[in-house]
Amino acid sequence: MKYRKFSKTGIPISEISLGAEHLEFEDKKLLLDVVSACIDHGINYADFFMPSPNVRDYMKTALKGRRDKMMVAGHLGAVQKDGQYERSRDVKKCELYIEDLLTRLDTDYVDMLMLHYIDDADDAQIVLNDGLLALGQRLVRQGKARMLGFSSHMVMTSQALIETGSFDSAMFSINPVFDTMNVDTDMDGLFEKEHQQDEIGQERQAFYRFCETEQCGIVVMKAYGAGRLLDKNSAFPITMTTDQSLEYALTRPGVVSVAVGCKSVAEVDAAAAYCEASEQQRDYSGVIKKASMATSGFCMYCNHCLPCPQNINIAKTIGAIDAMEQGDKGGVRMYEEQSEVDCIACGECEERCPFGVEVIDKMQSADDLLDKLS
Ligand code: SF4
Ligand code: SF4
Repeated sequence: MKYRKFSKTGIPISEISLGAEHLEFEDKKLLLDVVSACIDHGINYADFFMPSPNVRDYMKTALKGRRDKMMVAGHLGAVQKDGQYERSRDVKKCELYIEDLLTRLDTDYVDMLMLHYIDDADDAQIVLNDGLLALGQRLVRQGKARMLGFSSHMVMTSQALIETGSFDSAMFSINPVFDTMNVDTDMDGLFEKEHQQDEIGQERQAFYRFCETEQCGIVVMKAYGAGRLLDKNSAFPITMTTDQSLEYALTRPGVVSVAVGCKSVAEVDAAAAYCEASEQQRDYSGVIKKASMATSGFCMYCNHCLPCPQNINIAKTIGAIDAMEQGDKGGVRMYEEQSEVDCIACGECEERCPFGVEVIDKMQSADDLLDKLS
């Protein structure tokens, strides 16, 4: 495993890290096996945004006696409401969930404290001015967090956050398809022309360079596009290998690590194999040119759209529909586990979705499919 310096702090972080979100509802053994495999490969950073108590308790066991081998990123702003994940800006509630994380992990600190999921400019103002940033900074002063970061999917919002000088890291979604999407931003005058590249979105590329200049280390999420980039049957315009996807993300300026959302030991092994891959295996140049189709509307199965007043697991439901559309019988099984899809079209999820997914239409399709199956 190779290590990079975590921006200003100089703390070494493995090029491949663990995005633990897919382990949230898995059993304890799987989580222990995945974390052990990571440590065996020299992976030393796990992004751990999930607020569910079980997965936090399992992680405590996984890290027992080897907390020093794995940095943990906790998220300030990821809480639960009625048993579901919810993004919150309630300072007291957010602090409770971070204290809960420390208690459940049996640790005095998280290595990285990410202010969670800030895409919208108005929301950024709330985070900066209404107590969440102040809380994060206090937790750092108290030694309960070593570094401060934020997670986002939006260039302009992220740039504004970095310009405050408050953050050591940005967790940001990067893959060639996202990078070639049209980005509705006005970056005129902010970046030098020489930074602009041919096929890759100029605004995003300039943003990565900005992070590098500001020493705000990027931890990449969605490097595989929720698995779509690796799946030749998906509707994504290109298919890549794990080596190509990781190479692409790791060669963006400012990137310090790619958090791979592994849900099996085999997936950890596949990601870690990147370290031994040849230049030829990593070469992604041939696929970049094909990546120029916009991807807005593809679900990334992140559940950032929750909570749903009807208690629908939106990511799982869309995942099942997508799987069935691709002829995967597992999709039917996943779908049947969910007894009903009783969407009331309130639209709250669509407002929260960072990827422009038309959730209400998807829920209607899910309902139609359920009728056909019954
Ligand atoms: S609809 Fe959007 S927010 Fe919800 S799971 Fe899909 S990509 Fe994530
Ligand atoms: S539109 Fe449907 S799926 Fe989305 S939050 Fe409302 S009820 Fe839930």
